[in-house]
Amino acid sequence: MAKKDTSKTNVTARAAAKLEQSTCRFCGRKPEVVRVLTPSGKTQMFRKCCASAGIAA
Ligand SMILES: [Zn+2]
Repeated sequence: MAKKDTSKTNVTARAAAKLEQSTCRFCGRKPEVVRVLTPSGKTQMFRKCCASAGIAA
């Protein structure tokens, strides 16, 4: 029984970890990252989620 309880806890922890992964660690929103190509040909990541949250990228 104890073993079963542990596995149930793991499932809950995994679900929590998955949920944490699907949120931006800067603004806490759903991650919206777009790749922007700079004039110099460099690819830059731009966080739309943070921008809409008011956090400067
Ligand atoms: Zn963000």
